[in-house]
Amino acid sequence: MTILPIFVCTDKVLRQKAGDCAKPFSQYAQLAENMIQTMYKAPGIGLAAPQIGISLRLVVYDAGNGSVVLINPEIIFWSEQTAAYEEGCLSVPDITAEIIRPATIKFRAYGLDGYKFEKEVSGLEARVIQHECDHLFGTLFIDKLQDKDKLLIEKQLKKAGMKVAVLKAK
Ligand code: ZN
Repeated sequence: MTILPIFVCTDKVLRQKAGDCAKPFSQYAQLAENMIQTMYKAPGIGLAAPQIGISLRLVVYDAGNGSVVLINPEIIFWSEQTAAYEEGCLSVPDITAEIIRPATIKFRAYGLDGYKFEKEVSGLEARVIQHECDHLFGTLFIDKLQDKDKLLIEKQLKKAGMKVAVLKAK
């Protein structure tokens, strides 16, 4: 078991679009296991590969029913109905904010075994998958806030000693 260092929002890798995982996907089994252990240790309920400095479309999460690995995940349906939830992110330490997102989504992904699957999810699982898939596009939850709320968060991050220019990048 290896606990990996978690990159924060001032790191460039968190702003890059991640590349596809290459077959055979079983080659990512150890990485995914390390990501799961890192997520539990943090503790968090989701982790995307860019958060450990690897710009690949690989996500792990546990929305309460055990750990799941998603290779090259893709959201293919978003409900019109939305839900609000107080989100945080291991790459944006000590910051939480209420984010509105579609309440239900359908996604497609591959497992480590190479099989493609589709699943419709709602609640916390829909929330965490949307958040983690955003990471694969270099998007952070704080990007979804109004400008005035972004400014508040910039102040908080500054206090924590983090460079904040990254928040203006989008
Ligand atoms: Zn995150």
